[in-house]
Amino acid sequence: MGNYNKVIQKVRDLFHEQKEFIPLHIPHFSGNEKKYVLECIDSTYVSSVGQFVNDFEQSIADFTGAKRCIVCVNGTNAIHLALVASGVEAGDEVITQPLTFIATVNAISYAHASPVFVDVDKDTMGMSPLSLSKFLDENTILKDDICFNKSTGKKIRACLPMHTFGHSARIDEIKSICDKHHIILIEDAAEAIGSSYKGKSLGTFGLMGTFSFNGNKTITTGGGGAVITDDEDLADKLKHLSTQAKIPHKWNYVHDQVGYNYRMPNLNAALGLAQMENLEFILIQKRKLASAYQEFFSSIDMNFFEERADEKSNFWLNAVILENKEQQQTFLTELNEAGVMCRPIWELMTEMVMFKGCQKTNLDNARWLSQRVVNIPSSVVE
Ligand SMILES: *Cc1c(COP(=O)(O)O)cnc(C)c1O
Repeated sequence: MGNYNKVIQKVRDLFHEQKEFIPLHIPHFSGNEKKYVLECIDSTYVSSVGQFVNDFEQSIADFTGAKRCIVCVNGTNAIHLALVASGVEAGDEVITQPLTFIATVNAISYAHASPVFVDVDKDTMGMSPLSLSKFLDENTILKDDICFNKSTGKKIRACLPMHTFGHSARIDEIKSICDKHHIILIEDAAEAIGSSYKGKSLGTFGLMGTFSFNGNKTITTGGGGAVITDDEDLADKLKHLSTQAKIPHKWNYVHDQVGYNYRMPNLNAALGLAQMENLEFILIQKRKLASAYQEFFSSIDMNFFEERADEKSNFWLNAVILENKEQQQTFLTELNEAGVMCRPIWELMTEMVMFKGCQKTNLDNARWLSQRVVNIPSSVVE
């Protein structure tokens, strides 16, 4: 029991500027945020056209090493856009993980496709290559270079792993499995801007990667998202789809397919550009916080979720792994009641009424983590 008080005291020490209530994650504005937003208002270009949108896209491309970046109004529709651009059609299937935020799976539904759930690894909290390859080897067949699910007869067009809390999944292994089975890889890197695996930015392993810039993420545009890709044609398609599929013309309104109104407004991008200028600093501070946590939790014999050797995490949300579900719930109660905001990792997507009937493999690791992991305050402290 003494441990809870020690944890509460430690969090209060680390976040000494926040007096009463310590939130899970708040944005960090310390640079040109106000300046750029005011500039944007003064320019009158506050909507979907303007220089900040282009500059923000370029800064994300530069930072991640991707050739192109297309920004949109949130991370959920970034995934939707990527799925549609990858050729996912009504009735197709998309493989994903059950341990994720609901947005990953909702986006699959927006594309009129169904999710198929494979397990995660305990040490990454991301998709398990073993579970993925076992499912594909046993349940699919290639016909004309298209992967078909033998039990449903449907096309498995894409695979959508997620990098949990900014930690990398075994994404290179996942990539080669997808290649072998002719499945397009799209990374839900919503939580992972600034993270890398074997020196390469997360989001750049797949044909496309997506980010979220919601208010609780590592950097924010208020609401916002992005798709990155090295494929120029695909990038043009993403841009086209996100801007109502309007054919560029000085004044005529001609549209060549059903598009979406998904383009990020310039006002949001102004905030985002300033945030990108701070990203390096934010990552350094978050890393310092994580190592302080790690040292502390090992001193009291609690299990802190650590970075693996071949990755560099952005440590978006720090996490501890409790002994069992009961301890998870007690930890949540004790800390939240003491004004230290903590949240459990998600319930499995396969438990949600909408997705209960979907095909799934053995999900023991996902269930194990779901019953034990708790996120602890992770904002930037200076
Ligand atoms: C935040 C998040 C998204 C997208 O969220 P938006 O709020 O739509 O920007 C998608 N997937 C995961 C895993 C997320 O954490």
